[in-house]
Amino acid sequence: MSLAQRIYPHLPVAGQNLALAAFGLRYRRQRLGPGFDQYVAAFRERDRWSEEMMRSHTVQRLRELLLWSFQTVPYYTVRWQEAGIEEGDLAKMDVEDLAGLPITPKEDVRRDPTALVSTTLPRRPRLQRHLTSGSTGTPTTIYFTPQNVRQAMAVREARSFGWAGVSVRMPRSTIGARLVAPQTDSNGPVYRYNPIEHQLYLSAHHISRENLPSYVEGFNRYRPQVLTGFAYSHYLLARLMLAEGVRLQYQPQAAVLGSDKITPPMKATIAEAFGARAFEEYGAVENCVLATECTEGSLHVSPDFGILEILDADGAPAAPGQPGRLICTGLLNRAQPLIRYAIGDLGAWSKRHCSCGRDGLPVLESIVGRDTDVVVMRDGRRLNTAVALIFTGARGVAEGQVVQDGYEDFTIRVVPTTEFGVEQEEKLKIALRKRIGDVRIRVQTVEELEKTTSGKSRLVISRLRDNNDHNG
Ligand SMILES: [Zn+2]
Repeated sequence: MSLAQRIYPHLPVAGQNLALAAFGLRYRRQRLGPGFDQYVAAFRERDRWSEEMMRSHTVQRLRELLLWSFQTVPYYTVRWQEAGIEEGDLAKMDVEDLAGLPITPKEDVRRDPTALVSTTLPRRPRLQRHLTSGSTGTPTTIYFTPQNVRQAMAVREARSFGWAGVSVRMPRSTIGARLVAPQTDSNGPVYRYNPIEHQLYLSAHHISRENLPSYVEGFNRYRPQVLTGFAYSHYLLARLMLAEGVRLQYQPQAAVLGSDKITPPMKATIAEAFGARAFEEYGAVENCVLATECTEGSLHVSPDFGILEILDADGAPAAPGQPGRLICTGLLNRAQPLIRYAIGDLGAWSKRHCSCGRDGLPVLESIVGRDTDVVVMRDGRRLNTAVALIFTGARGVAEGQVVQDGYEDFTIRVVPTTEFGVEQEEKLKIALRKRIGDVRIRVQTVEELEKTTSGKSRLVISRLRDNNDHNG
């Protein structure tokens, strides 16, 4: 934790706003500084490339990255040599050949992040460090060059913000877990404002009926045009607004939301309450993958930012529609390359072709959860059978969660819409039995689902696992 981060919680609100302004100046220089506009223009141009053009661009970048990593990153030098890989192999690799390289587990990066840092770069303090929170609560350090930080912002500006018709330079709001109102018992405002960035920060921890007026006040006071941050928090806030009959006094232009799985009913709720369309964005602090929703509603991956593979249980490429582990190769970070990085999420390629014309950017069907979404078998095995997939396309389900109460006892929790009924209940049970066998299942409709301590949604909860596993 930096000195600033340690001091921040103890400052009064005015001091916190001032501190945010200081962070804001640095942030602006880091992310929107030299090269930014050119990067944005290049990503925009590649939007319209054919599959073939994108492929040859991506392969070229990949080969450069692989050689760089083999020559200058100790972790890859050692592991690839052990696997019998030579420079000549790397120089002619295609995207499909990536499968011949070993997977980089998250634990390896967590254990020794500097082993993955290139030895030829300027001294490490000049690199930027970011921490991932990680599902186990153990943070991982990720290093970037200043250039890479700007590229990562540029791809979001061109695609995530650009496709939604907005820009990072517009006044915006962020609901997240960081820096806002650190004391959870604080009665102070649930938001802080950074005047340099015109950015309103709102806490994901304080969303409740009692605090709703403070949130709404924050929006109305600073009028952010672009809403960003946790999807689930926006949905919770939207539900409260609808329940209380509260609306904003202005209309934001768009919401670009990530960090949680977001269902069509959740998007509809957000759009109704905030008066702005909600676009989904799938990304990672590691800057090795980005998927962005287009106006047609498809989630397009950006291979010119990071190559995505989806692997089935046997490690082979998963067929479209079949869920598998996401393996990411970030093409742009030369400070700490992540090659075949197991990011810990599950997803599936789409079977459909998107009509928006972005043929070089393949379409994800959905993100269907995390590696840690496991159920525990009687013999002790922990299986990830992507049970959350039962909610994909399920009618009448605003939110769903699968809870394992015992080896053969499961509860499907549903926050229902008006379409939900006995027929939908039966369909969910059949879908779940298909994935985990003949178990007892009850369906429970609830107003709200259990969340993580950081305010994110949880798709799968296993009481058996939680009882034996303190790591989460
Ligand atoms: Zn599209």
